[in-house]
Amino acid sequence: MRILVISDVHANLAALDAVIRDAGKFDRVWCLGDVVGYGPQPNECIERLRAFDLVCLAGNHDLAVVDKLSLDDFSPDARDAIYWTRERLATPEWLETLPTLVVLAEHGITLVHGSPRDPVWEYVVSPFEARLCLESIATPICLNGHTHIPIVFRQPTYGSGIVKEQLAVDSPIRLTLDRLVVNPGSVGQPRDDDVRAAYALIDLNAMTLIHRRVQYDISATQKLMKQAKLPDRLIRRLRLGE
Ligand code: ZN
Repeated sequence: MRILVISDVHANLAALDAVIRDAGKFDRVWCLGDVVGYGPQPNECIERLRAFDLVCLAGNHDLAVVDKLSLDDFSPDARDAIYWTRERLATPEWLETLPTLVVLAEHGITLVHGSPRDPVWEYVVSPFEARLCLESIATPICLNGHTHIPIVFRQPTYGSGIVKEQLAVDSPIRLTLDRLVVNPGSVGQPRDDDVRAAYALIDLNAMTLIHRRVQYDISATQKLMKQAKLPDRLIRRLRLGE
């Protein structure tokens, strides 16, 4: 069983389609939240994902768009994009029903957007937060998104220290040796100085995860954002990977 693991699509259909093409054959999609917000094609991205055997979490942008989260903590640009999305969203009821945390006990994996302690807002950026993550879940593996930065935090089974490591591209990691917090990066708005769409593939038989990057037509997404009059800064950052 092969799982496509994605996060932070942010209504960027060109990036999502590039990922789906690049991933090859997969059986199921695990989406770690923020399907919408920032980008120009929220409905198309939702429709595309719903065609798959899908587990999809709600991210902070998804919840804000359907008025389940205050806009106070969002940047002005993010807020503008949320208002823009609200006016056009065809299936708010679908976003409203998404869970914020899913435990896949049979695979030993917890899925969340931010962190298990705060599924919606917490950014896991250091071994400190990663430790708190692992302390608050019953599974050895946590997959999360939200930071838009691919990373892996590793806690060896027979040790207490947590190591922060690069999630190297095209280099499979085992999911059976250590306790891990893994962020596959962002499909639609990468922030690690690499403009390519980021994702991961899990092989549930071999229990391995591989991180991949794929180029997509950034200009196509930027053109739609301009037509939609979405904030300039959001358009520019796609070329900067920030
Ligand atoms: Zn996001």
